[in-house]
Amino acid sequence: MKAMKITELRRVSRNTCPLSRVDAPVPVPRNDEVLIHVSACGVCHTELDEIEGRTPPPSLPVIPGHQVVGTVIDAGEDASLFTTGDRVGAAWIYSSCGECTYCASGEDNLCPEFLATGRDRDGGYAEYMLAREGYIYPIPAAFSDAEAAPLLCAGAIGLRSLRLAGLSDGGALGLTGFGASGHLVLKTALHLYPQSHVYVFARSTAEREFAESLGAIWTGDTEAAPPVHLNAIIDTTPVWKPVVEALKNLAPGGRLVINAIRKEDGDKDYLLKLDYARDLWMEKEIKSVA
Ligand SMILES: [Zn+2]
Ligand SMILES: [Zn+2]
Repeated sequence: MKAMKITELRRVSRNTCPLSRVDAPVPVPRNDEVLIHVSACGVCHTELDEIEGRTPPPSLPVIPGHQVVGTVIDAGEDASLFTTGDRVGAAWIYSSCGECTYCASGEDNLCPEFLATGRDRDGGYAEYMLAREGYIYPIPAAFSDAEAAPLLCAGAIGLRSLRLAGLSDGGALGLTGFGASGHLVLKTALHLYPQSHVYVFARSTAEREFAESLGAIWTGDTEAAPPVHLNAIIDTTPVWKPVVEALKNLAPGGRLVINAIRKEDGDKDYLLKLDYARDLWMEKEIKSVA
């Protein structure tokens, strides 16, 4: 099968073609694994974090890709949940232990034995991939392959962020950064919380116009001040400036949810601008999303 592999860790700014196209054997499903014929695979910023070593694969080469839609074509001897021809999606969680307190409470994303699709095991930048049957999802017919793929990471972590934001209907929600996850969160938030208004902070005019077209009540640059203080803000950027700027705009008791697997260090000194009385006091909170 044709596949794209990460063969070494490197800065993408120095090598803009970090993946190698290879011919690899089609994997054989064992135990509870299914073999998926891949139709579509989304592209995620986390793949840059893998390639540049911020969350490195434990061994190389590895096939990245964790927003995968495809068709089940074979299964191991213990797999029984899906049949040949089923359309399924595979996401970032490749597997977890299934037994710890986190797994028992449905928080398998926090399991100490968590394995990631496309980092700890081969992912979807290939014609075929293996997945554990308990960690894949049937895809409703309403979505095309390409529409469904980004929901498996950008959409899923966006929904998780929204839940962790603790917003109530009518609360003011901010989004800082407006890419794949942000625009899905905006649509989800307006659906779940119809009385709420969404305020979007984004650097580019195109992103701000896109946010307005999807229903944002206000948009501005990362440093802009919205007309009201916000009850929750979700940060989908890989940098630090939006964190400090967002804390300024939180209402008392407000929560900042950082939706990023890793932050980059380029502007880390921006954290020195943090002013405790203005930015953190009054029971403001910061929470990350795994
Ligand atoms: Zn992702
Ligand atoms: Zn576990």
